[in-house]
Order: sequence, then structure tokens, then C-alpha cells
Amino acid sequence: MWRERGRMNLVDLKTALRGEVIQPSDTNYDDARKLYNAMIDKRPALIVRCVDAADVIACVNYARTNGILLAIRGGGHNGPGLGGCDNGLVIDLSRMRSVRVDPDSKTAQVAGGCIWGDVDHATHPFGMAVPSGIISTTGVGGLTLGGGIGHLARKYGLTIDNLVAVDIVLADGSMVKASESQHEDLFWAVRGGGGNFGVVTSFTFRLCPVHTVMAGPMFWALEDAPEVMRRYEDLITDAPEDLNGFFNFITVPPVPLFPEELYMRKVCGVVWCSLADPETTRKWLQPAQNWAEPLLVGVGPMPFPALQSFFDGLYTPGLQWYWKADFVNGFSEQSIAEHVKHGSQLPTMHSTMHMYPINGAVHRVSPSATPFTYRNSKWAEVIVGVDPAPENALKITQWARDYWQAVHPYSAPGGYVNFMMNEGAARIEATYGENYAKLQQIKSKYDPENLFCVNQNIVPLAKGEAGLESKAA
Ligand SMILES: Cc1cc2nc3c(=O)[nH]c(=O)nc-3n(C[C@H](O)[C@H](O)[C@H](O)COP(=O)(O)OP(=O)(O)OC[C@H]3O[C@@H](n4cnc5c(N)ncnc54)[C@H](O)[C@@H]3O)c2cc1C
Repeated sequence: MWRERGRMNLVDLKTALRGEVIQPSDTNYDDARKLYNAMIDKRPALIVRCVDAADVIACVNYARTNGILLAIRGGGHNGPGLGGCDNGLVIDLSRMRSVRVDPDSKTAQVAGGCIWGDVDHATHPFGMAVPSGIISTTGVGGLTLGGGIGHLARKYGLTIDNLVAVDIVLADGSMVKASESQHEDLFWAVRGGGGNFGVVTSFTFRLCPVHTVMAGPMFWALEDAPEVMRRYEDLITDAPEDLNGFFNFITVPPVPLFPEELYMRKVCGVVWCSLADPETTRKWLQPAQNWAEPLLVGVGPMPFPALQSFFDGLYTPGLQWYWKADFVNGFSEQSIAEHVKHGSQLPTMHSTMHMYPINGAVHRVSPSATPFTYRNSKWAEVIVGVDPAPENALKITQWARDYWQAVHPYSAPGGYVNFMMNEGAARIEATYGENYAKLQQIKSKYDPENLFCVNQNIVPLAKGEAGLESKAA
């Protein structure tokens, strides 16, 4: 394949592109550089709104041949703002949003800049879905490459467990397909290793049969939280895999969906999603209504895309976010006490703690089959301090840090990469654990100069240490 070797200048780049180039002097620059997390303020030198793989290749060649910092933006949701960078080039994939469903093979081809709402919209009429996250505005790119945890995890696994292939532009400007039978090492690495290996211009996913779900929240008073947590653990450990439910501490938002007497009350809850029929679901959830007197039972039938956008109105772009995460193997009386103490002190209405179950189908895949090392844990826990007001940034950050410090001793060493801020190399190594060395080998083969470094970075081995054949071989 032909590859760009010489240095490319800005005129060459603009000539090669069909997509828009945005620079600091442009009137739409401030809008274009905005990230979902308003706590992060980055000022790239260039933003290119790529429209196809050719544009992506041109950008990769331009950044590499000029030694320019390169960031990849999918949905722009990343907590520490890894979809942007200062003074470098941002490959913005938000113009690449097509989804093609193939009902015969039960697969969907999803362009690299799609958000999950695009996928849900396209697959729902076929009675199908791809397991993803819990918000429709999150990017397919970042969520998938980090793993992907959501309502369908217990039944159908992580998003990466349903990934069939990727088209990916590599650091040298070449483009390959990676799958179980092509560039298998690369395919292993992209299923959890983040944006470290290249720019994915297209994802092919296996579709799962999902249409209408029985879903919604149950709330209980905070004083009932210890008992609810104990009983929730018992239920979700062995529940039928058609039933999912994530535990949370929340402040009930003042919206007509909820009874007025609950507005702004801090509660604990579980958001359920059942694939079974209404009667079976009610039978499964009946015991939960006896854990303690619920303040609200809001479970009912809804189309899956409605569940996927349930929280979109609450978590709009432009809020301040601070993230902390861990994998958790089980509750103890001490960990419950710490959760109840800190969960009762949610500092703002949007701040929350979620425990996403990753048992069931996620456990049936070996921890070494993909880089998602802690898949044998029971939950991926996320603590997020969130608020619209920049003046509350310190308050929400401190709360999330204190909460995490208190519960981390009862957790696994690592957390889900997509729920972390910039926490340093040791934390990334702890998160990948025994898979880190293999990730480093593959990184050294496909991106030895670390062109793709604006991410939860896997550091390539120094030259001579890699011990693998070169990619071109
Ligand atoms: C409100 C909210 C809810 C969330 N809920 C969930 C959830 O339920 N489950 C879950 O698993 N996660 C969830 N997340 C976390 C989410 O997975 C991460 O924030 C993820 O990084 C978002 O992906 P993105 O494409 O939107 O991000 P971006 O900021 O655009 O990118 C994030 C990282 O991914 C890389 N990247 C993105 N697209 C590509 C691509 N096409 N090719 C190569 N690299 C790429 C970027 O280089 C960057 O390092 C949530 C986040 C938010 C803000």
C-alpha cells in the first residue's frame, strides 16, 4: 500500500481533505473545541472534521510527519477530555455518523464518529440492539474501545464482546481491517485497550435481539440503604441474566417523571432493565419491594431506545464532571458503611454513584481473551461529582476523591478505563493488570513512536525490547 513518507504541510493537508478545517481564528473554533466535560478546557491548533477514512489518513500523516500532538474525538464524552488536546491536531469524527444494519447476518456497520443514539435508532426497527452504555449521547468510539458496560451486560456481555471487526487507520497512515481472522493481535488490543492503536473509522457489531424492555427505577430511603445493598447483592449475583439492575445513590431530580414529594430527596435506588415479559419481570422484582418499603416503583414497558435516552435530559453537555472508579468483587459490612456515609453526602443534584453489574455473560469470557482484565468482578463502580456551576468544581472533586479513598480498600486494584480521570501510569497498569505486558507488545508493533498518546496511554516498549516482528513483516 502507498504511504505518505515526506513531510506534509498545511496546504497539502487542506488539499487532501474533504472535511472542514477549524483553526483558532475561525468563528466556530470555540464551539468546535468544546468537550462534554466543561471542567476540561483544551485549545487545539487544528480541528479537522473528517468525513471519511481518506480524511483520517491525511490527518494521521500530517500529525506524524510534522511531529504534532494528535487527539481523536468520537463522541467527546471522555471524563479527562481525551477527545481533545492543547496545541495539536484533533481528528473530529462527528461527521462520520452512518449506521448500516444487515438483518441477514445480524450485524451493524457503524461509522467511527457515531453516538449510541445513532445505533439504537438504526437497529430498533429490526428488533435488535448492540450492548452499549446508559446514555444515548456517548460516543461509540471511546465507549467501545474501553470495553462498554450497560443495561445488557449480564445477558449479552460488554460492547467489545459483540464487536466483530474494525477498520482502523494505523500510525503509519495505512488502514487495515482487524477481526478474529485478520490482524488478530490488533483486534485483541482494541477490545479494551482504548484509542492507543489507531483511529477506528468503522466498527462492525453483532446484533442482539432486544426490542421492548421492562425498565425503570426503584427508590428507597437512605436509612434503608444498608439492607437494600445486602439484598441487592444477593439478588443480582444469581438473578436470571435477562434481568439487569444497577445500584445507585442519587438526588431525585425535580421533574414530572417523579412524585413532587421526592423532589431533591437523596435516596438509594436500582435502575432495572428486564428482557422478560411484564409478568415474569414483576415476579422477579417482587422480592425487591420487600427489602424495605420503596419510595417509588417506576418500572414499566418501554422501547429500548427510550431507556437508552432516559438520562439524556439530566446529563446535558457542558456540566462539570469529576470521575473516580474501581472494580468491586462484593460488599462487606465495612464497605456498605462507607458507601452509605459518602452516598448520603451527594454534594449536588447531578452527583451520583453507580454500581454496574458485570456478571453473567461478561464472566463467560476469559479475562485474557480481551484486555478487559477485571471482567470477573461483580461490579464496575463509578463515583461522579457533577454540577453545572464551575464554582462547584472543587466541591464535587473533593467529594468524589474522599468517597473513592474510603471505598477503594474494599475494591480491586484497577478501575474501568472509561470511568477514570488522568490518574497516571501506575493506575493504568493496575487496571490492565496481567494484560498490560501484551498490550505494550502490540502497541510497540503498531505504534512504536506513540503517535496515539492522548488516551489512557499504553507506553510502547523501548526499541529492542519489543521482541515482535514489525507490523510490515
Ligand atoms: C454521561 C456519560 C455516561 C456514560 N455512561 C457510560 C456507560 O454507561 N457505560 C460505559 O461503558 N461508559 C460510559 N461512559 C464513559 C464513556 O465510555 C467514556 O467517556 C468514553 O471515553 C466516551 O467515548 P467518546 O467517544 O464519547 O469519547 P471521546 O472523548 O471522543 O474519546 C475518548 C477516547 O476514545 C478515543 N476514541 C474515540 N473514538 C475513537 C475512534 N473512533 N478511534 C480511535 N479512538 C477513539 C479517543 O482517542 C479518546 O482517547 C459515560 C460517559 C458519560 C460522560
